[in-house]
Amino acid sequence: MPKRLLSKESEERIFKRDKAHRMYSWTAQSGANPRVIAKTDGCYIWDGEGNRYFDIWAQTCYLQIGHQHPRVIEAIKRQAENLCVLRAELANETTSRLAEMLSELAPGDLNKVFFTCGGAESNENAIRMARIFTGRSKILARYRSYHGGTLGALSASGDPRRFYTEPTPTGFAHIPDCYCYRCPFEKTYPECDILCARYIDTAIQMEGNVAAVLLETIVGSNGLLIPPPEYLPMVKQICEKHGVLLILDEVMAGIGRSGRWFACEHYGVVPDLITLAKGITSGYVPIGAVLISSKIAEFFEDKYFPCGLTFSSHPLACAAGIASLTVMKEEGLVERSDKLGKVLSSELELLKERHPSVGDVRNKGLWGCIELVSDRASKKPLVRWNAGGPEMKPMNEVTNSLWSQGIFPNRRWNFIFIGPPLISTEENLR
Ligand code: PLP
Repeated sequence: MPKRLLSKESEERIFKRDKAHRMYSWTAQSGANPRVIAKTDGCYIWDGEGNRYFDIWAQTCYLQIGHQHPRVIEAIKRQAENLCVLRAELANETTSRLAEMLSELAPGDLNKVFFTCGGAESNENAIRMARIFTGRSKILARYRSYHGGTLGALSASGDPRRFYTEPTPTGFAHIPDCYCYRCPFEKTYPECDILCARYIDTAIQMEGNVAAVLLETIVGSNGLLIPPPEYLPMVKQICEKHGVLLILDEVMAGIGRSGRWFACEHYGVVPDLITLAKGITSGYVPIGAVLISSKIAEFFEDKYFPCGLTFSSHPLACAAGIASLTVMKEEGLVERSDKLGKVLSSELELLKERHPSVGDVRNKGLWGCIELVSDRASKKPLVRWNAGGPEMKPMNEVTNSLWSQGIFPNRRWNFIFIGPPLISTEENLR
């Protein structure tokens, strides 16, 4: 029996108070049953009873450096003592340094940074920049995509969470996914000649007035969809042909998660704008960013830049960002993600061989997904896309089983996600 970390009374009091006063994200409230967490450290979280769980989704796929890293905590404390808040129009050592660090890490000529408070805001602002820069209004995004929970970002998302926002503002259109296991065109790679990329050429012409194509470089919460090598270079070429901007949403894919600082490095593509959030600070303090290419930055030299947020460039978040990125560099965590990604691939393949309900496994670096089916031949999903309530029973059994085996799981529909802290060990993965 583990040693209790919270008395039973404290645990019950916290749970009751939480249920009474807190609204929970993306769920019917009566179904929310949050575990009370007493402690976190490294790759683990502990409940009040003292049970330890491996944080296999790095909270929400952002905790690259693991929980409670002393150097980041120290940097936050130091910043709080020295210069805790500052209005965004003023310069300071910390904010300017994080902007410089991100520019140095970014591919190509993405040398300017606009700081936001999270991923949705990064996408909102990137969309606005693209519209003003091109003088056009429409944004093309894919059906299986999530760009954030605000009005514009959710309208761009194909994810069914968008349905609750409808009617969405005009100016967004959706295109088919790059999803080889379930090709929307019912083709097979490579004979398909990447029809999903070529189709974008048609969509741009048919939609007209397109400002930008907005894509998650690798799709995260809609099933970890990894494009083949040709896809992004083809999309970039099509965008250039039409004078349409390419915005890559790397809110989840970026900052080392895929085994590169930026997932687009796998494909040799430099977009016009990259949106970021989660991994910049490993989540220690919330912040987001839009990385801006020279031509767009130059455009706004003389034109009004209509983007602003009270808490843009918050020094406390910037201090956490500098410290977290420094830890990632010094501990070699991006290389580690790449290396351990190979272990993850082979373990996932073994799981697929062993288990008839595993239809497909995918991963890039320390970022993976197991797609469950009830029949391998027909690929019938174990639970259908956008399932909820009692339909989720088989998946709930899977997640309950993971909890009982000491793993804090993340699942959606028929997907089980893997994206642990990048400090994880080979033993953790196995
Ligand atoms: N874009 C992607 C790809 C995401 O995965 C998310 C969140 O999960 C967002 C945007 C929205 O980020 P935030 O929740 O920080 O607004």
